Amino acid sequence: YTDIPVSEHALQPRRGGPKNLPIAEVLVDDDDCPDNSRLKHKPKLVILGSGWGSVSLLKTLKPEEYHVTVISPVNYFLFTPMLPSATVGTLEMRSLVEPIRRIVQRAKGHFLKAEAVDVELSEKLVEVTQTNPKGEVDHFYVPYDKLVIGVGATTNPHGVKGLEHCHFLKDIEDARLIRNSVMMNLEQACMPTTSDEERRRLLSFVVSGGGPTGVEFAAELFDMLNEDLGRSFPKILRNEISVHVIQSRGHILNTYDEALSRYAEARFEHDQVEVLTNSRVKEVQKNKILFTQKDDNGETVTKELPMGFCLWSTGVSQTDFCKRIAAKIEVQNNQHALETDTHLRLNGAPLGSVYAIGDCATVQNNVADHLVHFLRSLAWEKGKDPEKMQITFSEWRTVAQRVKKRFPQAADHLRRLDKLFEQYDKDKSGTLDFGELHELLLQIDSKLTSLPATAQRAHQQGQYLARKLNKLAHATPGMTANEVDYGDLDDAVYKPFEYRYLGSLAYIGNSAVFDFGNGLSFSGGLMAVYVWRSIYFAQSVSFRTRILLAMDWSKRALFGRDMMSY
Ligand code: FAD
Repeated sequence: YTDIPVSEHALQPRRGGPKNLPIAEVLVDDDDCPDNSRLKHKPKLVILGSGWGSVSLLKTLKPEEYHVTVISPVNYFLFTPMLPSATVGTLEMRSLVEPIRRIVQRAKGHFLKAEAVDVELSEKLVEVTQTNPKGEVDHFYVPYDKLVIGVGATTNPHGVKGLEHCHFLKDIEDARLIRNSVMMNLEQACMPTTSDEERRRLLSFVVSGGGPTGVEFAAELFDMLNEDLGRSFPKILRNEISVHVIQSRGHILNTYDEALSRYAEARFEHDQVEVLTNSRVKEVQKNKILFTQKDDNGETVTKELPMGFCLWSTGVSQTDFCKRIAAKIEVQNNQHALETDTHLRLNGAPLGSVYAIGDCATVQNNVADHLVHFLRSLAWEKGKDPEKMQITFSEWRTVAQRVKKRFPQAADHLRRLDKLFEQYDKDKSGTLDFGELHELLLQIDSKLTSLPATAQRAHQQGQYLARKLNKLAHATPGMTANEVDYGDLDDAVYKPFEYRYLGSLAYIGNSAVFDFGNGLSFSGGLMAVYVWRSIYFAQSVSFRTRILLAMDWSKRALFGRDMMSY
């Protein structure tokens, strides 16, 4: 595109693509690039999304190497780990967001506040929509040489009816709605016209999902009710309020070390937060929740819980945009995320042109394969033939810990395998042979072992991809992706992505738990809370947000939370 003037943003009059839409050539002037011919040939890098993956990519990318365009329906980056604190006013919402344009500016890029709706893979065009001030929806294409999909995921409905009566917690707007809804219930409960039964219902708060988000929200809610309710709502008695966590598995925080799950459960029991384990929500109605639970005889019984507020927080699923892309590619069979190879390239897309990172993507892995691999290495280390080796329970635990460190989300599988190991070992000799262990592995569905949907993973993938893109720009000087037959250039210039588990933390109400993997864990009271805060304070995206966080924490300590809706 040598003839096109290099301008801040030029929507070219030309149309094209399968839908004959306008094509927006987004080129960014770059005074720092001394070689003008190189500037003209800089590849167009289009990044979809302004979340964890995209921001970490932008922060590591060398600005002079690409014409960068970021497309996202929101013009901010959201620091999600602290979002539960914003739902009850512990932190203010503006303290958790950073304008994305500031970050894009660093990469000398261009930002479009719009939504990607489709990708024409063969023509390298992203279809984008944006609602104009007249309320009309404009469609146009943005061409790319390299496309990075980092659009995150949406809440998983698990096919349950009545989710329109629930709140979700994914975005800053969700936090605002939750805050208003909690306040409205408290206000309504104080009305002289509200009956006792209605009052109890309004003050029954249910969290569906015992993962970190659900647990942290329940903890924040509990803190607010304990610390600020009496001052602002003296007419409401603490024992009229109930907080319930419904969890389908046997424990809350089930991807954490078992000791931490138990610690969190004990803490909730002490704080009178009811944890209903082995329970599955069947239906959500306007005023109550229906759920099934196994009774003492192992029979499944249906129970109901009156509620005035329900948070639905039960994992993530694919966005419509990702489903549309997956449907176009024959080899994309995963229902939950776009599949990539270990170079983070979208499987089935033209090689080296489309990458997917963060929650919207999964790198194909298999726990059983990794267990077998580690067991084989263990055998070779001992100079034994793996197929004939007797594996002791403690050897098995060592291998399981190594696998768990790499795939924390496999914790449940490994626990089930522990139990199977014990059952299988009927003669109590404490050993299994390799063949027997293989049989056990077949009993678990080990294929669902994608990497965890965490900011940690999205951040690492963004950083990895930026480093690789920096190298790729030099590996193909003066060439765009169209002009060169790459072969497997990604593989030639950079190593495959490897996830490093750095630990998980969760706030559980005036105490916090830390799981560093490999059996290393830590939990505690106020001291742990300060460590928890310091970690997130340090990770916060800018100096500006750090100042705001410090101000919010000080304000809350001095004056309590603002008990109002807005
Ligand atoms: P996101 O950060 O979700 O960003 C996706 C971006 O894509 C957004 O900007 C969105 O607007 C944009 N987008 C969506 N659709 C389109 C489209 N069609 N076109 C263009 N752009 C689009 N992880 C941790 O590791 N630790 C924690 O403590 C933790 N706590 C969490 C607490 C909460 C309440 C939540 C919701 C999540 C938490 N997570 C945590 C998970 C973490 O936030 C996600 O794993 C992480 O945000 C994933 O990053 P991402 O870049 O893939 O997607």
